[in-house]
Amino acid sequence: MCNLDQVNSIPQTYSKLTNDSVAEVKNPNGKFPLLLICEHASNYIPPEFDNLGIDEETATSHAAYDIGIREVAVNLSNILDAPLVVSNISRLVIDCNREPYSPDSTPSQSEIYSIPKNANISPQEKSYRVKTYYQPFHDCIRNTMLSRTDLKVLLALHSFTPVFMGIDREMEIGVLFEQDNQLSRIFLQSSSLFSNLITVANEPYAPDPKVSHTIKKHATPFNLPNLMLEIRNSLIRNEKSQWEIAEIIAKMIQHSMREFNKLNKQRNYPEE
Ligand SMILES: [Zn+2]
Repeated sequence: MCNLDQVNSIPQTYSKLTNDSVAEVKNPNGKFPLLLICEHASNYIPPEFDNLGIDEETATSHAAYDIGIREVAVNLSNILDAPLVVSNISRLVIDCNREPYSPDSTPSQSEIYSIPKNANISPQEKSYRVKTYYQPFHDCIRNTMLSRTDLKVLLALHSFTPVFMGIDREMEIGVLFEQDNQLSRIFLQSSSLFSNLITVANEPYAPDPKVSHTIKKHATPFNLPNLMLEIRNSLIRNEKSQWEIAEIIAKMIQHSMREFNKLNKQRNYPEE
């Protein structure tokens, strides 16, 4: 669980993951004015769910979590010195980036994987999962935003599988955004300045409100500039590549925020 007191009391050195902790804030006092979000950081399924009836292959697949993204997010938090909110529960228990009471938040089928114990779950069970595993994560984000009014940008990090339904995905980084998202457009344009990564808009899928729930909940209503990134998980399978990608993305973020601030004549980002 996470509340404002806990957010403020977590020491900078806090790094130990415990499976009792539904959500956590890392680097809560980080100076960089951006909040990193990682909804799909973990494939942990609490024992009470009896593994949701899935096998080992499903439990370690992209259906259960965004492979490699926790490590990239932690690296980014360290490189930028930015706070990071992570969920420590598998998206198969409850997907923190979906409307909580929709069928999408507890899928019984995800690509080629079936999740038997998500089929026909009762309203009571749904409500229990929302309250116990969804709400603490979003409380963490909200409380962090309330306690850190200096945070000017929200960045949600995800990874995607290189092959989906048998189709190869060529793109390496996807930037998901709607028409009026100026920061995302700048970020997209900045890609070629810092890497040769194939960076594309609104791939591997469109910015449907269903898949940008966190942005819609915590950024859009407050006109908070935001980014939603998808990284192909084949690029972030080991420590070295997880660090290298984080370094590239950090440079793109720093550059994009500087350019954004220039265009908007804001002074919310420290000069070099
Ligand atoms: Zn994701």
